[in-house]
Amino acid sequence: MLMPYGQKRGNEIISIDMYALRAKEKTKFKQPHIKTLRIMNLTKHFLKLSFCFLMILFPFYPLQAQQQIPAKGISKQLALERATTISDINYQLSIHIPEKLTESIYGHMWLNLELKTNANPLILDFNVPAGSVREVTFENGNPVKWEHKNGHLIIPSSFLKKGHNLFILDFKVGEQSLNRNQEFLYTLFVPARASTAFPCFDQPDLKARFTLDLDIPEGWVATANGKQTKFQIRDHRQLVNFETTQPISTYLFSFVAGKFKTLEKKHNDISYRFFYREADSLKMKRNVDSIFKQVFMSVDWMEKYTGIKQPFGKYDFIAIPSFQYGGMEHPGAILYNAQRLILSESATQEDELNRANLIAHETAHLWFGDLVTMKWFDDVWLKEVFANFIADKIVNPMYPELNHQLSFLLAHQPRAYAIDRTQGANPIQQTLNNLDEAGSLYGNIIYHKAPIVMDQLEQLMGEDQLRAGLQKYLQTYRFGNATWDDLISILGNFSTKDLKAWSDVWVKEPGMPHYVVSTTQTADHGLSIAVQQKDPSGKNRIWPQYLTISTFGKSGQTSSEIFMDKPVSVVPPVPFEPLYILPNSTERGYGYFELDPKSASYLLKNIQTIADPLIRGAAWLSLHEMMIDNKITPIDYFNTLCSSLKEENEEQLINFIVADIQMTFWKFLDQSQKSTVSEFLSNLLQTKLNTSEKKSLKATFLKAFVYTTMENAKEMDTLYAIWMGKKPIPGMKLPETDYRMIACELALLNHPDAGNVLANQVARVKDKDSRERFVYLIPSLSSNKKVRDQFFKQLSDPKMREHEPWASEALSYLNHPLRESVSEKYILPGLNLLEEIRSTGDIFFPVDWLNALLSNHSSPAAAKTVRTFLKNHPNYPPDLRMKILQSADNLLRRNPSIQ
Ligand SMILES: [Zn+2]
Repeated sequence: MLMPYGQKRGNEIISIDMYALRAKEKTKFKQPHIKTLRIMNLTKHFLKLSFCFLMILFPFYPLQAQQQIPAKGISKQLALERATTISDINYQLSIHIPEKLTESIYGHMWLNLELKTNANPLILDFNVPAGSVREVTFENGNPVKWEHKNGHLIIPSSFLKKGHNLFILDFKVGEQSLNRNQEFLYTLFVPARASTAFPCFDQPDLKARFTLDLDIPEGWVATANGKQTKFQIRDHRQLVNFETTQPISTYLFSFVAGKFKTLEKKHNDISYRFFYREADSLKMKRNVDSIFKQVFMSVDWMEKYTGIKQPFGKYDFIAIPSFQYGGMEHPGAILYNAQRLILSESATQEDELNRANLIAHETAHLWFGDLVTMKWFDDVWLKEVFANFIADKIVNPMYPELNHQLSFLLAHQPRAYAIDRTQGANPIQQTLNNLDEAGSLYGNIIYHKAPIVMDQLEQLMGEDQLRAGLQKYLQTYRFGNATWDDLISILGNFSTKDLKAWSDVWVKEPGMPHYVVSTTQTADHGLSIAVQQKDPSGKNRIWPQYLTISTFGKSGQTSSEIFMDKPVSVVPPVPFEPLYILPNSTERGYGYFELDPKSASYLLKNIQTIADPLIRGAAWLSLHEMMIDNKITPIDYFNTLCSSLKEENEEQLINFIVADIQMTFWKFLDQSQKSTVSEFLSNLLQTKLNTSEKKSLKATFLKAFVYTTMENAKEMDTLYAIWMGKKPIPGMKLPETDYRMIACELALLNHPDAGNVLANQVARVKDKDSRERFVYLIPSLSSNKKVRDQFFKQLSDPKMREHEPWASEALSYLNHPLRESVSEKYILPGLNLLEEIRSTGDIFFPVDWLNALLSNHSSPAAAKTVRTFLKNHPNYPPDLRMKILQSADNLLRRNPSIQ
């Protein structure tokens, strides 16, 4: 999953083994052919009738109080107990999806499983409203007692037997994670949301086989994990049957149905199907070949690296409009964020690289995550780190013209530091007592610190040894589960280093080291350089890692690699007086690398004299961290960014500089500094926009120009003229999304014609889903405070937050820097909603919500509100408290006196 990635085929052992597994399954599981076909013909009304009829014959048997009812959610204890007694699960599901959103979805399931003991009741998870369970019977139709409480469906032990058990369940499908829209739906069950739809054992280490039948409206198409086996049309309905899957975790079970178009291509005898809703055929044409190419390359690369053929055979992928994440790795039915997959004409090189990375990430998950899965969600980072680490490896050969070390540095370090420097920093591996709280495990540490750590692990072990260790790990645990400690113990056999000690600080501890450089003259006129490592938390931890220290003088440069496993390391003396010293000059080092004052002041004036783009990138990260740490003033940093922008040629660094210009401008300069530099910045960005030849650069500069426009007549007129089509940008045809962006900005700037602009922009949006999203957002952009207040109030209704990216975007407009002074009042109610948002929303939503709510604020009043909220809630869930501290970090740093 991403916010945020085989020898030639013919691994005979795997193929034979899969065949054997299937043969076993056929004889073992009772097949519900007759009943399934029958049920697929049932309408909702018939289901209701049969339900009432059975009610008369077999009244429900509520459980007696002697059975212990587990608490809400899925506790680690419950998961451990079930993992030791339950096995060989097969869910044979039939689901009836009506066309109308107002009609309920019904499900029917044959549940096969083996029990080691029948001493205890069987506890299924079914987190839906009371009344959703309709009937539970044995195969012969005899009723089974059950109770539905605290999100669990419980069958007493007297109805169980040792060995094979089969129950037949009828129920109303819960809709919380079905993402039901007018014309389509898709399930998204990570981390433990399968049980919000149907009864199951919703923990990653109870892998099961799924056999699915969907009954869908005519004109729709459907896909799921297994291959489609049958397709029939009957009475304006379609019945689609899917093949039984290999053992997969419940969070990976998925189906998608709706009005989608499909494209199919074959690669190495496997058929790949692309489901999409994009209406713009030219846009599709521009994208399709690259998307398939990247999918194929990713699969081929993984098969070669792991020595294991794509474990699930089938590869359908679906572009979902307004998808909550970047992608989700359901085997056989991978979901992708449509916007990130189907790129607009103005896509930047970064967008293309990100797309390649996303496809590689989700594809890598088929092995790391889907084939071998974590035992418990505390190790969810493990699948994410492999996906990211491998995505970087896969994408590199696809873009030979790019500087991949620089990409790695700019993609991971800044995002990881943004969390690791805060008071809310979390370690890579976190504890998790209940799957209810699994959502808060995800974030930049998992997605961006972990790949750096994995890169360091590869450096510690050597590339070949790591690969051999990973192959052993995949072979050992395939179609099963493993922990990080299981992996480290396998890797330990392939390394001479103490990997456990290394893992303890890098994986199990939060925060990052702080490095300081000091120099002393040596007797022979050389210079001795010492690098000191500090632990910002005062715990004296040491983060062992290789660092490359570089010194640059007028007549030359030196580089020394040291293994920093002690508080102070001394670099071999330098024979000249350096102009500047960089304590880290590669993409591998991780931490706050503070420059000595002389080097900092030299680089603020001369950073562009560094010839190597990677070293320039590393120097930028040092200056950036020093600005955040108040060692460099924001205005000095801003001026350096602007003067460098005039000269910088490396696109990746231009993107970094432009992003930091915007960040420094809005979040660090005070009001009078902003007013002073505004016109200069606007001219600089417009000049770059007009003179750059590359389309992707033009798109970058246009965005920056639009997003930094202040409320002054001249710039607003320019934006308005661009939107009206009266001021064309040389060499650039604006895509619809850019017009939308400008329309939003004109509204935020209270342009006198903003009302008309927004209304006309609605008509310009061709795609239906995008238009609905835009219409939803309009009140959040209103110049009328009452309209905005009313909209914010409505966000407390979960229905209004159903499309989470829409809600986050709207909340960020309400809290836009241009409206900072009037939006402080949203902070407290926004924080008050956070717990509910975690329980009703998907996993990235709490962080997106907090970032939209807090990250644009810098006033003492806003800082006070956050601090007071934390003080007034001493027993607040620790994971959410940490997320608040992460999102409010800049706000709190800027107001250190408010505690
Ligand atoms: Zn992932």
